[in-house]
Order: sequence, then structure tokens, then C-alpha cells
Amino acid sequence: MTEQAAWARLTNPLVARAYHSARYRKLRDFPRSLVIESTSRCNLRCRMCPRGSMTRRAQDMPRALFDSLLDQIAEHDRRDMVDFVALHWFGEPLLHPDLLGFLERAGRRLPNLRRRGHLRSAVRGLCLSTNATLLDSELAQGLLDSPLTWLGLSVDGSSPETYATMREGGVFEQVAANVERLLALGRRHPREFPTIAIQVIVTRTTRPELGACLRRWEKHLAGIPHARVELKPYTDWAGQVCEPELEAPNRRRQFLYLNCGYLWDTMAVGAGGEVGLCCYDVNASHGLGNAGQTPLQEIWHGEPLTALRHRHARGELKELPLCRNCRMGRKYPLDYLWRRRRR
Ligand code: SF4
Repeated sequence: MTEQAAWARLTNPLVARAYHSARYRKLRDFPRSLVIESTSRCNLRCRMCPRGSMTRRAQDMPRALFDSLLDQIAEHDRRDMVDFVALHWFGEPLLHPDLLGFLERAGRRLPNLRRRGHLRSAVRGLCLSTNATLLDSELAQGLLDSPLTWLGLSVDGSSPETYATMREGGVFEQVAANVERLLALGRRHPREFPTIAIQVIVTRTTRPELGACLRRWEKHLAGIPHARVELKPYTDWAGQVCEPELEAPNRRRQFLYLNCGYLWDTMAVGAGGEVGLCCYDVNASHGLGNAGQTPLQEIWHGEPLTALRHRHARGELKELPLCRNCRMGRKYPLDYLWRRRRR
């Protein structure tokens, strides 16, 4: 064992406990953030997405389940306790035939959530992310008129060749035309919401085109309040995706462990009601329960999630393959501290 690894083994549990007790002294009554998968169907096979290994059924969330989730969230929205609700997870939300109806009801039932949108962030308010392949003019107008506070449109690259390295099944020219049409509609009737973010994932293939991406969208974004291009870091989804052609080389490091916070803040509910550990848990495979059978609050305070929180708080991730390989929970690279010590 290297000196670094020995030091990490010694200090990790202590640091994890100290961090945990400082940040999460009291568990919230209900999650602050909710990811609700309006559909788990998708029309693309993106190389950087772990959906290829999804074993859950691909389906649309039934209206009865969505309404029951809204009822439960609304109770906490009344107390202003909910910051973020997203209607996407591992599917393409525009495939859901009643997406606009879902958004309309979410906006009506969760009035306080919309105020959170003033922070203009993808982690506040009522949010939706789409690959924009199905964004015809009717859907574009519907989304602009909906209570959404943030709308993410994925357009990776500024050329068909680069786009094709990422999003198998999508056609760059068509996606770009769909986004341009939505922006033109947005310019015609400027409105405060939604914030519009054209998102580009930074990979080995898109990085050389980032300047061209910014220039390409500049003229289309002009005159639309709160519209912008956002660069998103590449993720390997806690080791579930291995695409060396996309991911920039990353020196393997020893990390100090600090718990990631997801288990104290966020709940992800799949289209069939299955509850995931966090947004990375593509198969919702941790036996946390099903929101179609058990109230969210009961799952939140239930035994399986409580046990997982304790393991996180103690930094015991060995038997949690997803968390063990995840970079979210590792905030301070040990070798950085180590170098500083030796300076
Ligand atoms: S450490 Fe990673 S995989 Fe585990 S709960 Fe946190 S975000 Fe999810």
C-alpha cells in the first residue's frame, strides 16, 4: 500500500463523519429535489449515456402515478420546502404523449416551485431537458407557454460529424433546425421563463468545436432574455460508461471521501414508480421501494435508504459499486493535499 493510500484509509472515515455531522445534522422531512421520469423510453442511443444497460421496463409514467406524486410534493411545496422538480431522467421526455399536460398540472399544483426558477439554474424550479429531436413547432410553443422555469436543449457539437460521435440516431441538421425554430418563437414573444440553455457536453470530440458552438448560437440567442449556451462536463455515470474516445484522459487518483449529499437532498422516481439511489442509478437497483405502492415520505425515511445514509456517513462504500466508482462523493483529491504538504 502506498503512503498516500494508507493515509487515505486512516483519515477517510474521520473526514466523512466530521463533514456529515457539519452538513447534515438533521435529515429533511422530504427531499428538496425530485427527479421524476416522465418516460423511460428514448429514441436515441447516446454513447455517453448508461441507458444501454438499463434493465427496467421502457414505459411512460401513467397519469395516475404522476398525479399522486404531485399531490405529495404539493404538500411540501405549500411549506416552501421543494427547490427542484425535473420531469426527465433516463428517457426522452418529448416522447410522452401528455408531457404538456404534466407540465401544466405541475405548474398549477406547485406554485412556490416556480419562484425558485428566478435563480435561473438547472437545479432550481421546474426543469426539463430534451434531445430536441422531436421538437416540432407545436411542442416548442407548448414548452415556451408552459410553467417550465428551465429548459435544456442538448446539441453536442457544431457539425454533423461531431454530433454523430455522441448521439447515435439523431440528425444534427434536424436538431439544430428544431432549436432555431424554438428560439425564433421565443424571440417573437419574449418572456421571463423558461430560461433556455443550449447544452454541449465537453468531450474529446466536442472540445475542438466549443468556440464554433458559441458563435453558431450567438445570433439565434440575441434578443431572447435568459437564453444561453452551457458547457456540461462529461460524466462516466459512476463508472457505468466506458468511452475512452469521448472522455479526456484523467489520471487515476486517490481521493478523500466526503459523502455526496444526494441521499440527503434528492429522490429520483422512475417512470414505473421505482425509486433510485440517485440520478446515476439507471436500474433503480438498490431496493428502495416503489412510489406507486409506498408514499414518498415513507420511502425517504424507510429502512433501506436510512441504512445507505449511515454507510455513506461512515464512508463505507466498498459494497456499493455505484458509489465506490462515483466522482460526485469525492471532493478533495488526496494527492492535491499531499502535494501541498510536501511543498
Ligand atoms: S456517491 Fe454517486 S452514485 Fe452514490 S449516491 Fe452519490 S451521486 Fe449517487
